[in-house]
Amino acid sequence: MTTYTLPDSGLTSLTAAELAEKIHSREVSSREVTQAHLDRITETDGELNAFLHVGAEAALAAAEDVDKRLDAGEAPASPLAGVPLALKDVIVTTDAPTTGASKILEGWISPYDATVTRKIREAGIPILGKTNLDELAMGSSTENSAYGPTRNPYDLERTPGGSGGGSAAAIAAGQAPLAIGTDTGGSIRQPAALTNTVGVKPTYGTVSRYGFVAAASSLEQAGPGARTVLDAALLHEVIAGHDPFDATTVNRPLVSVVDAAREGASGDLKGLKVGVVKQFNREGFQPGVLESYRASLDQLTAQGAEIIEVDCPRFDDALAAYYLIMPCEVSSNLARLDGMRYGMRVGDDGTRSADEVMALTRAAGFGPEVKRRIILGTYALSVGYFDAYYVQAQRVRTLIAQDFARAFEQVDVLVTPTTPTTAFKLGEKVADPVEMYNFDLCTLPLNLAGLCGMSVPAGFAADTGLPVGLQIMAPAFADDRLYRVGAAYEAGRK
Ligand code: GLN
Repeated sequence: MTTYTLPDSGLTSLTAAELAEKIHSREVSSREVTQAHLDRITETDGELNAFLHVGAEAALAAAEDVDKRLDAGEAPASPLAGVPLALKDVIVTTDAPTTGASKILEGWISPYDATVTRKIREAGIPILGKTNLDELAMGSSTENSAYGPTRNPYDLERTPGGSGGGSAAAIAAGQAPLAIGTDTGGSIRQPAALTNTVGVKPTYGTVSRYGFVAAASSLEQAGPGARTVLDAALLHEVIAGHDPFDATTVNRPLVSVVDAAREGASGDLKGLKVGVVKQFNREGFQPGVLESYRASLDQLTAQGAEIIEVDCPRFDDALAAYYLIMPCEVSSNLARLDGMRYGMRVGDDGTRSADEVMALTRAAGFGPEVKRRIILGTYALSVGYFDAYYVQAQRVRTLIAQDFARAFEQVDVLVTPTTPTTAFKLGEKVADPVEMYNFDLCTLPLNLAGLCGMSVPAGFAADTGLPVGLQIMAPAFADDRLYRVGAAYEAGRK
């Protein structure tokens, strides 16, 4: 079986923290590091299809700029200066196309940078390129991409998860030490679990959404992907913070997640109360996933944590609530993709009205899953159905937040398997959208409540031999807990 997992040696096998140290001590140049990753992309991406756009020239120019400054004796612009990264193609950039993996945005280049993009540039992080995803971040396998699916580096016949499968595959394959994803219902954590990488969904309101191709604004948040908890923390600190361009960001000091990751590395969890969500520790999950999950709980206990079972009964309704609220927001947000302002325009031959051109453009530009959600959302928001569907779903959302609040009165963090099974075969779920939706049942509740979560590698399932993730969830603004516990768990596995 062909795999494209991490090389055993060389620059592409190193963590971001290791690379940063070598670059800052001038043992290697950022250019060499960036070139090594570009070479790895050339070598592997024909099969993996993790990238929609590779920006070699721009990445090397950014790397050379870092090298020049460091050679002149300047302090690094950030702890990650010179270490390259991959960016999910739903975050806008002025020097590369942003498609959101949709035909409708083909050829469009943003006139401005997203705040996340700007922060990355200011931190001296070269952007290797834009990674593949399910069209406009809707999906769980990258199979909804208009540009073909990404393949899982551990088994090319399988999905790396989604929507951020490109970012996760890039990290797992050594194409990039770091990546940025966005998580609306699990799109950072779920692909991380399927690719043996770390993925974090920060607390809602702590990372700017300015310059996202917005899908579901009340749910989504950008976050880091990496191969270690510390690397994720270093990137998390680059992108987090208040942004006057995004009124949903909070203006308050954030606790250092890098300090938390370093503290956690001692592996000591004495005094920590870990809640096991009853709803996600049961039959119906793949036996190998449950087995590995229970082994993780034993490990946490051995490290000093106390395991407490908590009941979150409304989590069972999260999927239904999410798949109403999410499409409702999509139906409104995507109205702007109408062929008038961005990207594709179809049928504008002087004989048709603007309405006709918009309809033709949207019919040709959007794929089936995006259309399904627009139709679902528009229906659920329409007069006569609004109360029965949208308002009802919002009520469930409140109940889920209450389940979390009650749980966090008893415990410091909650844990679950990140996914109910390991990576499934490409094609296996495409014919059944509900099956596909079901794959995210463990990750969705968190987004509905606006809290933070991490998926951390938890080994390989005995029955399939594929990667498994442990999900850690914490209250809003307690992102540092994720890193402390995640780093401790990671240290305990070694
Ligand atoms: N799989 C979920 C969906 O299809 C979540 C996607 C995401 O987090 N962007 O909506």
